[in-house]
Amino acid sequence: MRAVVFLLCLGVALAHERGNFEHIIEINREAGHGDLFEGDIPCEDNPMYEETKCSEWASWGQCEDNPDFMWYYCRMTCGKCDWFPTVDAIYAAFDQYNEHTCIRWVPRTTETDYAHISRSYGGCWSYVGRLGGKQDLSLGEGCESTKTAVHEMMHCAGFYHTQSRTDRDYYVNIYEENMYEGTEYNFAKYTADQVDLYGYYDLYSIMHYDCYSFSKNNEPTITAKNDPSCNTPLGQPYVGGGFRQSDIDKLNSMYNC
Ligand SMILES: [Zn+2]
Repeated sequence: MRAVVFLLCLGVALAHERGNFEHIIEINREAGHGDLFEGDIPCEDNPMYEETKCSEWASWGQCEDNPDFMWYYCRMTCGKCDWFPTVDAIYAAFDQYNEHTCIRWVPRTTETDYAHISRSYGGCWSYVGRLGGKQDLSLGEGCESTKTAVHEMMHCAGFYHTQSRTDRDYYVNIYEENMYEGTEYNFAKYTADQVDLYGYYDLYSIMHYDCYSFSKNNEPTITAKNDPSCNTPLGQPYVGGGFRQSDIDKLNSMYNC
């Protein structure tokens, strides 16, 4: 009997391999941030950030069209990056941006607008685009991987999650019946006048949800089109962490470089 119980437990544990975004959601839930928009974007709880902006913010617009949401000279400054116990992951993420994109993360000196990368808030999350002034980017306990840092920094650069693209229904299926009740809004998609797409839809983008994101029953909530068993592991391109080529192209396209 003991062996049977063990096998049953093992069966549940191995039902699917947990992806990076599932990990982010779990860390955020444990840290008391389970209600973040799309799992890792602060929204209505922040007085600086009206709810309407969360869904209508045209942060995927071109630099010229939406200068308020872009960072000066494609340069993002970091208010405090040196005291992390896992600083290597943060700097490895900086290196990914430096190597592959025109965006540079540099220590803040006198810049008015900057990201404050902090461990103390708990959870892995970031605002989308440039808010103005100091804005927090959280990489708390459990968020120390390079891929998580790269993901949150890409939010900061101005990107939402891939599956919220206007054209996503051509590429993925959504299964509301498998979602935790009340989390369906995290699977909203934007209209063509709310966002720009910047290139093709990439199922493996570092900004794509995993198949089991917000799943209540260990069944997929989102899969590649006509792939209900999730044989295509969404949002998991990584070996050692980092971008897909599509992510690099989108960043460089947005920042005109
Ligand atoms: Zn995210």
